[in-house]
Amino acid sequence: MESRLEANIEQILKKAEDMARLSRDEALALMRVKKHSREAYAIMQVANRMSRNRFAEKGENHFHIGLNVEPCPMDCLFCSLSRKAGIFREKIEFPMEQVLAWARQAEALGADALNLMTTGTYRFEQLLEVGRVLSREISIPLVANTRDISHREGEALLDAGFVGAYHAVRLGEGRDTPLRREKRINTIGVFKDVGLLWMNCVEPVGPEHSAEEIVDLILLARDNGATYSGIMRRINFPGSPMERFGMISELEMAHLVAVSRLVMGNVPKAHCTHEPHAASLMAGANLFFPEVGSSPRDGQVDTAKGRGAGIEFCRKMQKEMEWDPDLPSNCFNGNETGRKPKK
Ligand code: SF4
Repeated sequence: MESRLEANIEQILKKAEDMARLSRDEALALMRVKKHSREAYAIMQVANRMSRNRFAEKGENHFHIGLNVEPCPMDCLFCSLSRKAGIFREKIEFPMEQVLAWARQAEALGADALNLMTTGTYRFEQLLEVGRVLSREISIPLVANTRDISHREGEALLDAGFVGAYHAVRLGEGRDTPLRREKRINTIGVFKDVGLLWMNCVEPVGPEHSAEEIVDLILLARDNGATYSGIMRRINFPGSPMERFGMISELEMAHLVAVSRLVMGNVPKAHCTHEPHAASLMAGANLFFPEVGSSPRDGQVDTAKGRGAGIEFCRKMQKEMEWDPDLPSNCFNGNETGRKPKK
């Protein structure tokens, strides 16, 4: 039985654990190790150790509330809310009372943040109004997940009570979506300029994406100081045009979570994965997104009645894997925004 790791992988692991910045080629070498190899498990082991040391065993839960359903004219190929998917025929905005009830439930059950998602053409003023109401009524931090924004809109998000924004340059941006990669990157610059924390995930990963495409987005996250940036796989809704590519497994996702953790080094305050699963909690992930309301992966109007994992389920899985969801969040403490965190 072989007892040693390949020398170059061993060297990269040592460098990563010393929190040195990995190069693109080093990241690609980590991506290319064989599934089930000694090297694959060594990558997960180091990523796990880095996260447990740096995040002090904290299990994070950022509670996703999808504020609306509509046949979205942006028509991103991987999204069940797109007009082309043909799943949703009418516009539905969840009433404020419902959003508030979800937010109160999340707060009572120990969520660390609320992640408020909208479709591509949701009214920005309405998102601000939801932010104003929730920031009055709820004490956990608010994160916006919406379209590209200007500096003025970024300031308005801060004024409405948001402390951060989730925003991803998606895999296949400009090919599987109508949005321009440069515009997405500009928006990340807007967050930085106005003082909103930037939250990210490399998504939605499918078997067709090359190691290079994935690594380039991991590097983008590291080099732009993402608060967190892990890995989310694409879920193929029934009838999805992406069905022909299949989906990656949770085990493959755990490998990618580990590689991204090694590359992120000492930049992030947490490391996410989606949808919630146990394998990545042994590979560097400590952050889950419990979900209610609309979801681009679901055919149900309210994903809590469909695919969405509840917060109790997420907390239980974290506890089973010895992450503590009751510790304070690392993401909003000592942040560099101009505004005070709420927690
Ligand atoms: S991913 Fe967002 S912008 Fe694209 S179709 Fe779905 S809701 Fe619209």
